[in-house]
Parts: sequence; structure tokens; C-alpha cells
Amino acid sequence: MLKVNNLKVKYGVIEAVRGIDFEVKAGEIVTIIGANGAGKTSTLSAIFNLVKKEGTVRFVEGDISKLSTDKIVKHGMALVPEGRRIFINLTVEENLKIGAYTNEENYENLKEEMFRLFPRLKQKRNNYGGSLSGGEQQMLAIARALMSEPKMLVLDEPSLGLAPIIVKDLFGILVDLNKNDDVTILLVEQNAAAALKIADRAYVMENGSLVMEDDAKALLASDEIKKKYLGG
Ligand code: ATP
Repeated sequence: MLKVNNLKVKYGVIEAVRGIDFEVKAGEIVTIIGANGAGKTSTLSAIFNLVKKEGTVRFVEGDISKLSTDKIVKHGMALVPEGRRIFINLTVEENLKIGAYTNEENYENLKEEMFRLFPRLKQKRNNYGGSLSGGEQQMLAIARALMSEPKMLVLDEPSLGLAPIIVKDLFGILVDLNKNDDVTILLVEQNAAAALKIADRAYVMENGSLVMEDDAKALLASDEIKKKYLGG
């Protein structure tokens, strides 16, 4: 579904992404794990054309390397950005409405669908984004992205700053979305343990390069990964 070839991102002399190749097949949950500064966010920003890049990105057979971000969203890929970036001065419903900008005719149906997936958001539909807890804000960021009815959902560090029990709930919702609603998922995470538990396949990013690729279960059992990313 997504195929990335020789992707490079440079900020002046800093090479944040050094010619990486990876793919996500339809129906998979794929994770890219790596430490702070490894180049994960830059990779996602490059896929969505939010930063200057070199290389090619193909999505569902088409070359999207040169498309603007809103066209990429219209092609069926949605980003849940690092730090959630919800609108704190707008209500839950207003945040969802913004997420439906490519899809306004379906707004009411999609909103009800989101309230089914995230009952907490239904309870808080008229509350301001800024008044929600961290976990609720992350749910809102995911629901907002889903309002474009993506084939593929791309998430940048959704677990950041959340308590382990909330991460477990949230990742459970991602698994449900993948299984029940056929949403393919690319998940970028520093929380390797949580990400590897729900992923089918995984890549490990270090210093702008992908240094390992395997089934998520195999990486979870690997001594090297345990030592480096799972706290021994
Ligand atoms: P994080 O978990 O902090 O998001 P990351 O793995 O996503 O880390 P990136 O944010 O992609 O990593 O950063 C990769 C490298 O590029 C880092 O060395 C970072 O300091 C640098 N970098 C990122 N954004 C910029 C920018 N706008 N200008 C200059 N350097 C940047």
C-alpha cells in the first residue's frame, strides 16, 4: 500500500533521514521504533510533504512524492501528528468537523461513527479540546484524522506523555480499527514495547537509517532489542 524508496531529509548540513526504504502492505500494522532524534518524525513529515525531501513515495500504486499534503490526505492517508495538535479553543465536535474538510457531506455519519469508537468523546462533545485529558486529546487527534476516511492511518508517537494503562487502551483501539475497519496502520514510536506488541512487522531506526527489519514478535524476543529498547 505504501512504498518508500531512497527517502532523504536534510536540514542544512544535518542528514536526518539517510536514504531509507520501507513498505507497509494493505492490512498491516507496521511500526518504526527508535530513540529520540533517530529521524522518525522527519520520515513522516517527508511522506506527507511537510518538509523538503528526496526519494519516492508510492501509495496505492500512485506516485505521491510531489503531491501537496491535502492531496495526499484525499488519496486516503491521514496523519496523527506528534503532540496531537488538536485545537484547544474549539470543542470536540468542532475539532472533528475540521478533520472532515475533505469529506464534508459525510460529516454527520462519520461523527456518529467516531462517537461509537470513542464513547469518551461523545460524553465530551461540547467540551473544549484544551479541557480534555492527555489520553482524550490523543483519541480526539485520532478521531479527527479518521474523519477523512483514510485507508491508512499514520501516527507519530501517540503514546507520548500518557500513562501505561491509557496507552494500552489507545493501542487496543488501533488494533480494533485495523481488524474491524480495515485501516492499515503505520505507527512511529519511542515506546518500543507497546508498539511491538500490536504490530505485525517493525523497522528499527538509528541515526537516520533503518538498521533492522523483522516480524514484531521476533524483535520483541531479540536480545539486542531487549537491551537497547526494552530496558533490558
Ligand atoms: P523525536 O522523537 O524527537 O520526534 P525523531 O526520531 O522523530 O525524534 P526527528 O525529529 O526526525 O527525529 O529528528 C531527526 C534529526 O533531525 C535530529 O537530529 C533533529 O535534531 C534534527 N531536526 C529535526 N527537525 C529539524 C529542523 N526543523 N531543523 C533542523 N534540524 C532538525
